[in-house]
Amino acid sequence: MSVSTLAAAPSVCAPLPVLGRDVTVPLVTGGEVTYAALDYAASAPALQRVWDDVAAYAPYYGSVHRGAGYLSQLSTDLFENARRTVARFLDCRDGDQVVFTRSTTDSLNLLAATLAADCQVFVFETEHHASLLPWRDSRVTYLNAPHTLGEAVDTLERALAGRDPHGTALVCVTGASNVTGELWPVRELAAAAHAHDARIVLDAAQLAPHHPVSVRDLDVDWVAFSGHKLYAPFGSGVLAGRADWLREAEPYLAGGGASRTVSRRTDGGVDVEWHESAARHEAGSPNVIGAYAIASACKTLTEAGFETLVARERYLIETVRAGLAEVPEVRVLSLFGEDAPRVGVISFVVEGWNSSHFAAALSAEYGIGVRDGLFCAHPLVRTLLGSDPQSQGECGAPEAAPGEKSLNAIRVSFGAGT
Ligand code: PLP
Repeated sequence: MSVSTLAAAPSVCAPLPVLGRDVTVPLVTGGEVTYAALDYAASAPALQRVWDDVAAYAPYYGSVHRGAGYLSQLSTDLFENARRTVARFLDCRDGDQVVFTRSTTDSLNLLAATLAADCQVFVFETEHHASLLPWRDSRVTYLNAPHTLGEAVDTLERALAGRDPHGTALVCVTGASNVTGELWPVRELAAAAHAHDARIVLDAAQLAPHHPVSVRDLDVDWVAFSGHKLYAPFGSGVLAGRADWLREAEPYLAGGGASRTVSRRTDGGVDVEWHESAARHEAGSPNVIGAYAIASACKTLTEAGFETLVARERYLIETVRAGLAEVPEVRVLSLFGEDAPRVGVISFVVEGWNSSHFAAALSAEYGIGVRDGLFCAHPLVRTLLGSDPQSQGECGAPEAAPGEKSLNAIRVSFGAGT
């Protein structure tokens, strides 16, 4: 299998134009080659249209919510329109809020900061660290890795059935794994959460770039994603969903923009009245270009049609998996098995190869950009590799000695521009 095999995907499903497609990179063997970006799960190249929209707006950049001048008014309009575009893209309910953040990590930390002191959080150990770690100040139950979709739902059901009935509860689940690409049964997990009076937040960092995400249809309470994985790498992310917990919480950051009025008290202190809208959690000058870029990506993906993108991606997934299956030394990592529905994220190990050396060789000798390591999902990757899930060590850390199990893996990932 070669990169040109991948490029031969049916033309009816032509990829969306992205930046960097024609970038040439030097090879250690001499000469140059057109770079093959196969690391979309880390950061996807910007869609050409996103870049064009950002470039067209840039000369008109101005402060948001802060000025009477034309540029400020225009920027405020674009920023608030971007919020509405994202709400439509996610099929939000009436009354839901869309908060612009820096990233999925930031969105989930923001949600964690809104939790009541007695909130119990349920999260699978298989999550990306962004979903696994923000809840450590709460009462967290880490659920064991399931091996079927049904087991995932049963595991959550059992944990929620045994929960302390007092206080609130939150489930955090990823829509598509950044390691195996496998889709999680989000609708069923949401139903289980709600049946036990818990709420659910969807980490859609890897799902939203590949599939439509409907907050209403999946019946999730919140969804989080990152612009840079959605072909809009300008530093913004999103947390969207139920307004109540967001409105009741202290602002994530204290400062201008989040505060409606601030007054001096006679005792020398200050009184603050905070906004109740999304601005409550967007203190400081917001990243209008990042928000505008996300909105541009949402529109472009919607107009291109997810059916087309999914059809092309399915072809690419099958082609890559078939190619890897031809190599006996390759073992593809999977939690739910061969037939599980998945997005274009595939991790594997090659027997006899150090994964980091393999990835470096793909780059240096073939101009193919992939990722190696534990993919910020250490417990999951260690479970899949059969190494001790409780062992320590960093991403891309020491490789196995010959004959031993690999300690990290290689990941190829692609998307709408591939
Ligand atoms: N969730 C998943 C499933 C991810 O794959 C990632 C990033 O790889 C994140 C969350 C964190 O995203 P960010 O680094 O943009 O905050």
